[in-house]
Amino acid sequence: MNESQPPAAEPDAAVLSRLRVVLVGAQHPGNIGAAARAMKVMGLSDLALVAPERYPDPEATARASGADDVLTAACVHDTLDAALADCVLSIGTSARTRRTQWPLIDARQAAERAVAAAAGGPVALVFGRERSGLDNAELDRCQLHLQVPTNPEYSSLNLAAAVQVVAYELRMASGHCIAADDAHRPVPAADMEGLFQHWHDVLVAAGFLDPAEPRILMRRLRRLFNRAAPDRIETNILRGALRALDPRRLPNRRPAKPRVTRSDDTDD
Ligand code: SAH
Repeated sequence: MNESQPPAAEPDAAVLSRLRVVLVGAQHPGNIGAAARAMKVMGLSDLALVAPERYPDPEATARASGADDVLTAACVHDTLDAALADCVLSIGTSARTRRTQWPLIDARQAAERAVAAAAGGPVALVFGRERSGLDNAELDRCQLHLQVPTNPEYSSLNLAAAVQVVAYELRMASGHCIAADDAHRPVPAADMEGLFQHWHDVLVAAGFLDPAEPRILMRRLRRLFNRAAPDRIETNILRGALRALDPRRLPNRRPAKPRVTRSDDTDD
């Protein structure tokens, strides 16, 4: 299998450019750098820092590790309101379920909402301080509240890890999907029909299927193979095996006599 297969669908670059990660009061510069890296691998570039404790900082640059373009382009704001001023939607993130004042949605649902709203302008994903998260006034600025589902006994992700999870969901929601290459894609309907006909003919020739009284054997086989959705290689193996087992191709074959051995084809 070719591991370097290009993706079938790239995410919508215009959408990704409108998704802003806002870090409020980040305390460790290493986390700011790691967040920039988490963004860049997912194709995000709009980073806003609200009153970071230490920025710029060599530790942030070191942890960005190749995503220093995202880091150096970051906008630094004094207030959260300034970072959100042009946004059509702001989504706050929270590690704590006890904040029940707001209904929480998971990262996947939030990403769908974010991507839909990004058609109309910038959308902010707002992350809190390492020690204390976002305060209530900051969460009030957000129309939606996101929680990454975690172990209830240990629910707090590292700040940059939370950015990574959310950024991944944003990328997926904005249209990234991996292509199955041709050999691994389920074969089209005409090939499936060819396979079913082949099964039918060989089973009749073998005397397993009585064409005068076929009942639902073929429907059951259809159901089985449709569920498996065989790809090109698998279909070729099945066709090859059927050819090899076809009694009409064996020397000294005796004419097929239908055997009545079906006990499993009485429903439907
Ligand atoms: N002690 C803080 C944890 C902050 S973790 C608290 O209890 O709130 C730093 C930031 O990472 C959080 O403010 C949030 O933005 C993000 N984060 C961590 N875990 C998260 C989770 N499970 N879901 C969503 N965001 C999370």
